[in-house]
Amino acid sequence: MEKIGFIGLGNMGTPLAKRLLKKYQLIIYDLDENNIKYFTDKGALACSTPAELASQTSRIFLCLPTSAIVEKVVNGDHGLLKTAKKDTYIIDMTTGEPEITRKISNALKQKGINFIDAPVSGGPKGANQGNIAIMVGGTKNQFSTIKPIMDDISSNIFYAGEIGSGHSIKAGNNLLNLICRMATFEVISMLVKDGVDPEKAVNIIQKSSGRNYATEITLPDNILSGKMVQGFSTGLMQKDAGVATRIADTNQVEIPLGKLSQELLKSTIDEFGEDADMSNVALTYEKKSGVKIRP
Ligand code: NAD
Repeated sequence: MEKIGFIGLGNMGTPLAKRLLKKYQLIIYDLDENNIKYFTDKGALACSTPAELASQTSRIFLCLPTSAIVEKVVNGDHGLLKTAKKDTYIIDMTTGEPEITRKISNALKQKGINFIDAPVSGGPKGANQGNIAIMVGGTKNQFSTIKPIMDDISSNIFYAGEIGSGHSIKAGNNLLNLICRMATFEVISMLVKDGVDPEKAVNIIQKSSGRNYATEITLPDNILSGKMVQGFSTGLMQKDAGVATRIADTNQVEIPLGKLSQELLKSTIDEFGEDADMSNVALTYEKKSGVKIRP
């Protein structure tokens, strides 16, 4: 059985890695004992450092919170670089910073190691269903080398362009998701205050010109169902919107809606903290408008 490494087995990494478990011998590393046990119980082999992991496989996926952590896992004292062999592929599924990604990739190229970006969109649900979007930045040759493994994760794989392009597009996507989410909560709480049933409003808008990811998935699946768990933290969304803002600032592009949506997100973070699930945004809107959106 071919060996595949996976580092970062949290909300997002777990469903991605689970798809690989079906076909490959998974070699894993994480800081969280519970996340490790979940996989070792299913036959994965755990390593005690990234260096140990890289000594066992030349195909390594990362799904870590930030690019700063990716840098540490790659370049740190017991990092992947200590043992990674020439022609190794490190595939970074983190929602990362394009600038840092290009820097790491260029440094690793000198050593014959491939570092490419492959962030994902569609959340744990999309990964479980096998249709999460994967946007790959790197050379076309790197893309075609690694695509057969990605085919085992999802049927929606896209070549995004040069190294860092996947991370740029992903940051733009998440800023757009945040803007649409805030706009949708604003409108739905207004309608509820006007006496409308929130479920009816969401169902009808979902079939009308105002539809978006929040009317299709966020509200029906996570809020109106009463579940209140999306599996994505407010802190990670803030980080993603921050990456998009830095891209805008570097290119001197104004993003007033993007900045306002981040201020609105900050109200939820101030009240519930950075580890809170993104579903808590609904509570902020309920408090602002004085109406209940949840059942
Ligand atoms: P998470 O906090 O649930 O999981 C992060 C995992 O990384 C944890 O298991 C943690 O123990 C591990 N980790 C942290 N530092 C580490 C280190 N130094 N070495 C080894 N392991 C370490 O986060 P998540 O929601 O899984 O998100 C991971 C990445 O995927 C983020 O960049 C996020 O923006 C992106 N993402 C998340 C979602 C989602 O819906 N959750 C969707 C798309 C993209």
